Formats: sequence, structure tokens, C-alpha cells
Amino acid sequence: MTSERGLIPRRVVVVGAGLSGLTAAHAVSARAAAARQALELVVLEAKDRVGGAIWTERRDGFTIEGGADSFITNKPWALELCRELGLESRLIETDARHRRSFVVRRGRLAPVPEGFVLMAPARLGPLLTSPILSWRGKLRMMLDLILPRGDGIVDESLASFVKRRLGREALDRLVQPLVGGIYTADPNELSLRATLPQFLEMERVYGSVIRGALRQRKRARAEERDASGARYGLFMTLDDGMDLLPRTLESRLPSRALQLNTPVRRISRPDINAPWRVELLDGPALDADAVIVTTEAHVSARLLDGHDPELALLLRSIPYASSAIVNIAFRRDQVAHPLDGFGAVVPALENRSILAVSFLSVKFPRRAPAGTVLMRVFVGGATQPELFERSDDALVELVRGELATLLGARGEPLFAEVARHARAMPQYTLGHLDRVAEIRSRQARHAGLVLAGNAFDGVGIPDCVKAAREAADQVFAAANDSAAPAAA
Ligand SMILES: Cc1cc2nc3c(=O)[nH]c(=O)nc-3n(C[C@H](O)[C@H](O)[C@H](O)COP(=O)(O)OP(=O)(O)OC[C@H]3O[C@@H](n4cnc5c(N)ncnc54)[C@H](O)[C@@H]3O)c2cc1C
Repeated sequence: MTSERGLIPRRVVVVGAGLSGLTAAHAVSARAAAARQALELVVLEAKDRVGGAIWTERRDGFTIEGGADSFITNKPWALELCRELGLESRLIETDARHRRSFVVRRGRLAPVPEGFVLMAPARLGPLLTSPILSWRGKLRMMLDLILPRGDGIVDESLASFVKRRLGREALDRLVQPLVGGIYTADPNELSLRATLPQFLEMERVYGSVIRGALRQRKRARAEERDASGARYGLFMTLDDGMDLLPRTLESRLPSRALQLNTPVRRISRPDINAPWRVELLDGPALDADAVIVTTEAHVSARLLDGHDPELALLLRSIPYASSAIVNIAFRRDQVAHPLDGFGAVVPALENRSILAVSFLSVKFPRRAPAGTVLMRVFVGGATQPELFERSDDALVELVRGELATLLGARGEPLFAEVARHARAMPQYTLGHLDRVAEIRSRQARHAGLVLAGNAFDGVGIPDCVKAAREAADQVFAAANDSAAPAAA
């Protein structure tokens, strides 16, 4: 890069090579190629690997997911990305023989009523015969059919909404463990509008969550009847493990674009006509016309503190939770439970030390050798932060104890591995959408600076893909808006 801006090639720096950073980088280079525009792309990653919250290990015939294990398909963006990358033939669905989950009730596993999705029963029969709720609890849920709509004005917590519509028991026994498991969050703090707005919409349109769920099921079945072409189950993964997605994105980057082991220290711009300056912890700073920042919001805050303290303060106000996943394997004959489902979630009122257990080798084929089982156990989160502080050995002991009680898992496991996610899961707490709107309006003051990642518009893999592509679009929109091709 020369000092004369007129001569410099366009340079875009992406900070972070998790799924968001890699997808944004891929989209930036695809858009530049389509426009036959010369572009220098640099992706800076602090760790020695790509993927961030997605990483896969392989050992002794096991495919071990340290982070995310699958993605949903009813938000299409991750599926679209896989297709775009030529990974369609590598996608695998959940095993149709065992498509159900359990919820722990008084120390035993009971099936989640068929058709119950997060908080809405799309079928009434299985709910009414389920042992999970008392008759009083079930009747209270049915009041949802006649209760008046809420005013929809205040940003209501998930817990408040569920108590209001479906009752306390439905919250404690079903919704808290099912939804809490996704966000590793406390439903009293979660903003419903920011996390599951579809349920607010059901209340608004149908006057009832149950009625909304029943109607949606009817519509989905009709669409299924009329559908042609490939249809997928709700959850999918990749045959060689989830990290095939970031690894493939990595392989499509322009050569030498990716710099691993390169933590960014500071991002600033001395004045509006100067390029952005990306300072590294170690090594010379880089100049850039546009910077896409995909790090955790608390990290982005640190990077931008010197440039815009207000923006940094807003970013810091997004809370994060830490959690650990213990991947643990047994011989099949060591586990008494039939494992005839994808796993179990644990309500907080059961007073146990794990949030959920997923039977990974039941959920997806080829995750473990024949005659063995591989489970993923979630510990910590916003509701049990103290457990995250324990040593790996202590976490394995704790998990073994819980699996012995809940599943009858006996004896030495074949192995147990602890994957830690420190301050990795943003919590979309009350006021989240307002916070994000403020962040966006503050960001708009800085042409060429784009904030992406899982902190803002959705934590799931499809949401991250969508947001990252939009981040790439913003870089080009900014460039098109300015007279010069350089974006800053
Ligand atoms: C335990 C867990 C399980 C999950 N399971 C699922 C699931 O099954 N399905 C699903 O859809 N979603 C799941 N998610 C959510 C989803 O995986 C994540 O939201 C998504 O992968 C986040 O991607 P990201 O790139 O935005 O952030 P990250 O993956 O956090 O990437 C941020 C990157 O920035 C890097 N970085 C940090 N600081 C710096 C710095 N100073 N300089 C340079 N680089 C830096 C980090 O090392 C990291 O690589 C899960 C999340 C967690 C934590």
C-alpha cells in the first residue's frame, strides 16, 4: 500500500475468522470478483484456527463437536451458503428414527410432547397426555385460547410472556429448559422481541400462541403436500463435522488473505479522509478502506474504545454468558437408558448441575463407532456461571455424576473432553433491539466501519450467515455511495 490514496488498491480488513468473519470475507471477494474490481482482502484472526465457536475434532472414529453441532433449515441462509460452496452433497439430516427430545422431570427423562416447538404446542393430544405437566398446568395453558392479547408495547421478557399466556408451570417445566438451552440464558432477562418474535406475532395475529401454532402446522402440512424438490429436516449438519463449513470458506479465500495468530489491538481512523488503521498486538499496522469487525461485542468495544468511546460503551452493554460443553463417550452397554431421542434438557427447578445433554451419535449418523455413544453435555450459562469456573476434571466428574443419575451411565468413559466458550454467547436481554439500533446509528457515523457477528441480529448459524452477507453488502454500498471507489 502506498501513501497516495489515489494509487492504493482497495483493501478490506475483516477482523475475526469465525463463521461471521469468514462468510463476510467470502461475500466481499465474491462481490468484488463479480464487479471485476481489484480488491485486497485481509482476514485477521487471533487464534491458530478458523471457525470461532465452531470447531470439530476427530479421534478414534468419533467426530467431536466442541461448539455448534448443527443448524436449522427454516431460516435458509446457512443452507444457501452450503449450496453456494458446493457442500450440498455433504449435508446430513438428523436420524428420522429418533426425532424427539426429553425433558427431565423429577430426575427422570420424559418426552417433550410431540409437536411442541419451543413454547407452542402444534398438537394438543400429545400435550394433554404428557406426564410433564399437571392437569392444572395443562388447563392453565389452554387459557391461552381465550386470554386477551397483550399491548405489545413494552419489551416483554420471555418469562413474563410465557407466564401471562401459558402459565408458570409451562414456563418452568418446558419453555425455560427448551429456550434457555439455546441461549444459555435466563428467560427472566431475555427479550422476547429480540429472540423469538414469531411468538409475539402469533399472539398479535391469532390472539393465542396455541391457535397460532395449530394454524402454522396446518399450513406447513399443506405446503409439504404441494412442495417439489429437496426438502430437509429441521436440523442439518455436515458429514465430516460442522467445521467443514468454516474450513471450506477458509479454502476459498484469496491466497495469503488469512492471517492466523494475529490478534487486533485497536481500530481507529485519524480523520475522515484517512484510511482506517488496524493495529495488531504484534507487527505493523494495516491501513484499510473498510473494516468489518466480527469479534464478540466486548472485544469489539475494546478495539474501538479509543476511536469512539460512546460506541464502545454501547457494545459493552451487551452481556455475555460463558458455557462449557463436555463431550463424553461410553460403550453402549455402559448406558442403561435406551437413548431413543436426541437428548434431554434440564429445567432449572430440577436443581441439577447440567443444562442439557445431547445424544450426538443418536442425532446424527457416523459420529461414533458402532457399539459406542457420544454425548455433549452443556454446563454453566447465564444461570449457573459458577460452574464454568470449575476445572476440567471437576466438570467431567460433575457430568459423570449427572449422567449416572439421569441415564444410568456407569463406569469409566472412553474419553471426556471439555470445550470452553468464555463470554461467547451474547445475551439478548430486555432493551436489546434498542441497544442494537443505537449501535447501528453510531456505526453509521463511521463510513467504512461495519459491525457484524452474533451479538446483534441473531445468534444461530443461519443468522450469522445472513448478517455477514449484509455486512459485505454494506462495504460495497458505502463504496458505491462515495465518488471515489475507496469506501472510507
Ligand atoms: C457453545 C455454543 C454452541 C452453539 N451451538 C449452536 C448450534 O448448534 N447451532 C447454531 O445455529 N448455533 C450455535 N451456536 C451459535 C453459533 O455457533 C455462533 O453464534 C456463531 O458460530 C458465531 O460466529 P461469529 O463468527 O459471529 O463469532 P465467533 O465464532 O465468536 O468468532 C469470533 C472470532 O473472532 C476472533 N477474535 C476475538 N478477538 C479477536 C481479536 N482481538 N483479533 C482478531 N480476532 C479476534 C475469535 O478468536 C473468533 O474466531 C452455538 C454457540 C456456542 C457458544
